[in-house]
Amino acid sequence: MTTTTSIERAEHLKAALKAQPQRLLIGGAWVEAVSGRTFETINPATGEVLAHIAHGATADVDLAVRAARKALSDPAWSRMSAVDRSRVLLRLADLVERDAENLAVLECLDNGKPATLTRAVEVEGTIRTFRYFAGWPTKFGGETLPVSPRSGAQILNYTTREPVGVAGLIVPWNYPLSMAAWKVAPALAAGCTVILKPAEQTPLTALRLGELALEAGVPPGVFNIITGFGDAGAALVEHDGVDKVAFTGSTAVGKAIVRASSGNLKKVSLELGGKSPQIVFPDADVKVAAASIAQGIFFNQGQTCTAGSRLYVHKSRADELLDAIAGAAARLKIGDGLQPDVDFGPLISQEQWDRVNHYVEVGSAEGATLAAGGQRPANLANGFFFEPTIFVNAAPTMRIVREEIFGPVLAALTWSDQDELVAQANDSEYGLSAGIWTNDIKAAHRTAAAIKAGTVWVNCFNMIDPASPFGGFRQSGWGREHGRQAMELYSETKSVWVNLS
Ligand code: NDP
Repeated sequence: MTTTTSIERAEHLKAALKAQPQRLLIGGAWVEAVSGRTFETINPATGEVLAHIAHGATADVDLAVRAARKALSDPAWSRMSAVDRSRVLLRLADLVERDAENLAVLECLDNGKPATLTRAVEVEGTIRTFRYFAGWPTKFGGETLPVSPRSGAQILNYTTREPVGVAGLIVPWNYPLSMAAWKVAPALAAGCTVILKPAEQTPLTALRLGELALEAGVPPGVFNIITGFGDAGAALVEHDGVDKVAFTGSTAVGKAIVRASSGNLKKVSLELGGKSPQIVFPDADVKVAAASIAQGIFFNQGQTCTAGSRLYVHKSRADELLDAIAGAAARLKIGDGLQPDVDFGPLISQEQWDRVNHYVEVGSAEGATLAAGGQRPANLANGFFFEPTIFVNAAPTMRIVREEIFGPVLAALTWSDQDELVAQANDSEYGLSAGIWTNDIKAAHRTAAAIKAGTVWVNCFNMIDPASPFGGFRQSGWGREHGRQAMELYSETKSVWVNLS
């Protein structure tokens, strides 16, 4: 994408957004909110209002749940053959690919992250996710099991997999399109019907995904979208017509969802916060590690659940590594993501800027040394920009080491004793991911085994693929997205006993 193309495309998209109200998708139709109210979505790089979005709430959620329940038993969906369901998902992937540049620029406008990254990560990830899950309907079945009844009866026992039902999918603003895809694709592959609730800050690409789903042949009512605020998410969670909730977001809201979902004991899966350690051994390739560690914390302005925000570097390599990470941070070009050479955009909102700034104040007050960044870049007066920030001399008890900041802030600690290192790395309420940097194969595997985290990367970081399960230990969540595990999240197992005696 050239500069002119992205900026021109953005102007075209903005004009289209102004011309067309952004409605809810219920039962295959685009409708206003029952209240008639709307809210604004803005460009975090400029503060410009991009569009007015239908403000869905409890009454709209109720309509969407009714539509999703009706579609669940509609033969157009419930009797669709596995191969046809697969075909619909492949068609949706093709349509996302067709509209890739528009989606990439739209996501850049709504979320702020650079268009080069929205294209390479959000849009490409979405295409891959739909193509991967399109393979499952024709392969996801039960088993025949060798049971041994005490009576000696001759029994045929087999299992089947059935869609769990209506799924409420609540997603955050940090990866709006791909987080939607991570949930919509396996839910549809398993035969569920869904109600997607995008984050209030980033509804635009989710709405385009809904349009493309209809074009791909997803029957009316199978894929519904309610834009709105936390109360719309809460209404989904509480609704007795919803059989499953899948959520990505903060641990605090995850806990509220667990409490609120108990009315009908709906199934719940949660992908929550993280405070991922990056562990560097004395023999690590420091140049490679530094580039990846910088990327692991500064990518997406640090607004990533897996952000490698705690660095544990062996004291013999600390100066060298920290210099290289600071160098990588200094080379990041910060600015409006429509510019092709920009690597680092704004934070999502003023609220998030204030949160990150507060943690920088806390880190300094607690005695860590601010080695880089820590403020708004001097040349960017508008938008929610915050510099890549590095604290050194951090200590395990500090809040910047213990709490999820969700911004571009690295806290660096040094180590010398391997047992203490593992204990410190595991001293967290979270357990989403970890990075290990070493060429010592035994140290790599021993540490990978000892770390309490759902994903461990060795000599790499943030590698994610729809084939490999993703999720967290401890307060980082419940369940695993991606792979066969995701199909299991959206289905029930039935055991059938047939007496053949
Ligand atoms: P939230 O967890 O509040 O939001 C995530 C999604 O849940 C949004 O769609 C939100 O709607 C919805 N929601 C909010 N309240 C409820 C509720 N009671 N029941 C059901 N759904 C609800 O994250 P925030 O956007 O407020 O971000 C705050 C912090 O959360 C960040 O600073 C970061 O630390 C963490 N976070 C972690 C993420 C991760 O991937 N692990 C992703 C995003 C945030 P709405 O947007 O309208 O409020």
